Amino acid sequence: MIVHLGWIAAALAAPAASLHDSFNSQQAYAYTAQIAAFGERWPESPGHRKTEDLIHQVLQKDGARAEADDFTAATPRGPIAVHNIIGKFNVTADPKQPIFILAGHYDTLFQPGFIGANDGASSTAILLAFADALAGRKTKMQIWLVWTDLEEAIHTFDDDDGLYGSRHLAQQLAANGTASRIRGFFLLDMIGDKDLGVARETGSDRGLQDFIARAAAQLGYSQDFFQYQIDIIDDHVPFIRAGVPSVDVVDAMYGRMGPQFDSMGEFHHSNADTMDKVSRRSLEIVGRTILLTVELLDR
Ligand SMILES: [Zn+2]
Repeated sequence: MIVHLGWIAAALAAPAASLHDSFNSQQAYAYTAQIAAFGERWPESPGHRKTEDLIHQVLQKDGARAEADDFTAATPRGPIAVHNIIGKFNVTADPKQPIFILAGHYDTLFQPGFIGANDGASSTAILLAFADALAGRKTKMQIWLVWTDLEEAIHTFDDDDGLYGSRHLAQQLAANGTASRIRGFFLLDMIGDKDLGVARETGSDRGLQDFIARAAAQLGYSQDFFQYQIDIIDDHVPFIRAGVPSVDVVDAMYGRMGPQFDSMGEFHHSNADTMDKVSRRSLEIVGRTILLTVELLDR
């Protein structure tokens, strides 16, 4: 009995694990494998529905406030139902409480046989692991996890094709005045690549990138971040246009590079984007770094 009480006292005295130390990379990898195994996940496909169900299950388990941004997009393939999913943590009654958004797309390319273990599954999964880390944990900022839908273009990325979900959500948040409360927006994309190298994306907010660099340095991961520069059209662009400081946290070199390959590497938008190209270690590096960055910004 005395031993038992002593154990309780010790447990109460021990500081709670920090947010970034609560990130479970093994679980993040397991989520990635589970989602990749759902198969093709373009909007309205069975794999897409299974992914939506999994996101909702995890948000419910972790005590998030789940919200939807549903609409029908006019696309070159005709009308498509689009479902952005938002999980909110630490919402207070303060109408001025700052908001921080961590986002990633959960749809995959319309391409038969495309599994997107890295391009789609890894970003979807890291957000699920963020939900698990945020469960029951206090932050001053309201943290939103946003799974964007129909990021992929039907034909090519231009003003009317691609980024359907993020364009809609950013416009909504700008129109209802919420955008001005958003302290920052981090987009995670293709961060499961086992040969990890996060780009310094040139359209992104430099000050927020410097916070990420500080967090990476603190954790000993500096060599995995910002060793090359590139300009990318991705789900952060509509948020930049809405006036939200945004960063694309993206590994833009997936497999071998060269003129014979896609501009983002040999496995980008290739049916070879499979689980053997993804590692638990890369998810751990990005997951811990991003959550420590949130902690630095939350002070
Ligand atoms: Zn893609």
